[in-house]
Amino acid sequence: MAKLNPFDLYDVASLLSEEELMIKDSVARFVDERAMPVIAKHFDEATFPQELVPEIAEMGLLGSSIEGYGCAGLNCQEMERCDSGLRSFVSVQSSLCMYPIYAYGSEEQKQRWLPGMAAGEIIGCFGLTESHGGSDPANMKTHARRDGDDWIVNGSKMWITNGNLADIAIVWAKTEQGIMGFVLEKGMSGFEAREIKSKMSLRASVTSELYFDNVRVPEANRLPNVVGLKGPLGCLTQARYGITWGPIGSAIACLSEVIDYTSDRVLFGRPLAANQAIQLRLADMARRITSAQLLSLQLGRMKDAGTMQPTQVSIAKWNNVRMALDIARDCRDILGGSGITTEYHAIRHMLNLESVITYEGTETVHQLVVGRELTGINAF
Ligand SMILES: Cc1cc2nc3c(=O)[nH]c(=O)nc-3n(C[C@H](O)[C@H](O)[C@H](O)COP(=O)(O)OP(=O)(O)OC[C@H]3O[C@@H](n4cnc5c(N)ncnc54)[C@H](O)[C@@H]3O)c2cc1C
Repeated sequence: MAKLNPFDLYDVASLLSEEELMIKDSVARFVDERAMPVIAKHFDEATFPQELVPEIAEMGLLGSSIEGYGCAGLNCQEMERCDSGLRSFVSVQSSLCMYPIYAYGSEEQKQRWLPGMAAGEIIGCFGLTESHGGSDPANMKTHARRDGDDWIVNGSKMWITNGNLADIAIVWAKTEQGIMGFVLEKGMSGFEAREIKSKMSLRASVTSELYFDNVRVPEANRLPNVVGLKGPLGCLTQARYGITWGPIGSAIACLSEVIDYTSDRVLFGRPLAANQAIQLRLADMARRITSAQLLSLQLGRMKDAGTMQPTQVSIAKWNNVRMALDIARDCRDILGGSGITTEYHAIRHMLNLESVITYEGTETVHQLVVGRELTGINAF
C-alpha cells in the first residue's frame, strides 16, 4: 500500500485540477524557501514581511478569484502553515478590500484600484470594527454626511489589519440612508492611522486604529452598489471561507514539527514518539486536521454551487480555528521547554490563533449563529 501523506490523509489534494495543484505547489515552495526562513525574525521584531508582497502578487494570490475568494482553499492552508499574519494579509487584501470594490464598486472604481491591488502595489485595509464592540457592528458610531459632491466622515475604527501599510481603506460608516462603504485614501486631510503596539499575537502583521476627523471624501469614492450591513457582512463571509482553511496550515506546521521532534528526542532510553501517550496525542491531531479539511472541502463545494450559507461558514470557522488552537497548545507542551521560544513554530502559531479565534467573528458569535439556526431564537 502506498504511504499516506500524514498531513492529507484523505488525499484532498487529489481533487485539485492540474493547474490548481501547480499553484498550490508553487505557494508551498514559496512558503518553505522564502517565507519560513524570515518569519520568526519578523514575529520577534513585530514587523510585517513586506518584502514578500511582490512574490505573493506574482503567484496571483491577490484577488485571484475575486468572484469567489481571495485566498483559495489549499493556498490559504499553505500560507498559514507559515504564519497567520501572512494569510491575514492576503485575506484582507483580497476578500475584504478587492472583493467589495469588485462586488459593490463602479466600473471606474474597479479600473482605478483593482489592477494595482492585484499587483500588490496598492495595499488595502478594511475598517468595520470600532472600540465599543466588534461583535455588534450595527452599533457603529462612525458616520458620513453628504456635503455637496462630497461626504464628510467622522469617527474611528479599531483593530484594523494592514492599517498603517494601507494606501486605501474601505471604511463602513452610518449615513442617513443606512451603512455605506467609502474608499478613503492615505493622505486625505483628517485621516490618520496609528499602529497598535505591544501585541503578543499576530506580531508579523500590522494592526492599527484609524481616525477620521472631518475627512472630505468625494462621492466618486463611495461604493455605490450596496447599502446596509449586508455590505461588510458579505465580504466577511468570503474571507471566513478562506479562514476555515488557513488554520489547518498552522495545525499541520505544528504537527509536522512535533513528529520530527518526538522521533529525535530520546527520554527514558527511547524516542519520545515510541510512547503510547504521545502517539495518542499525535493521532488525535491528525484526526482533527483530516476532519477540518473535509469540512472545508464540502464548504467549498457548496460555495462553488452558490448554496453556501453563513451558518455553514460559522460551523467551519469555529471548528477549524478551535482545532488548530488546541493542537498548537498541545504541540507547545510536547516540545517542553524548547516550545517556549520562536525557534520552534508552535508557540508562534498558538499566539497567532488567539487572534484568529477572535477576529472575523469570535468563537462565541459563531456558536450563537449555529444556536439560532437550531432553535430559531436570536440569543445575541
Ligand atoms: C489582530 C486582529 C486583527 C483584526 N483585523 C480587523 C480588520 O482588519 N478589520 C476589522 O474591521 N476588524 C478587525 N479585527 C476586529 C475583530 O473582528 C474584533 O476584535 C472581533 O469582532 C471582536 O470584537 P471585540 O474585540 O470588540 O470584542 P467584543 O465584541 O467586545 O467581545 C468580547 C467578548 O464577548 C463575547 N461576546 C460578544 N457578544 C456576546 C454575546 N451576545 N453573548 C455572549 N458573549 C458575547 C465575545 O465572544 C468575546 O469573547 C481584528 C482583531 C484582531 C485581534
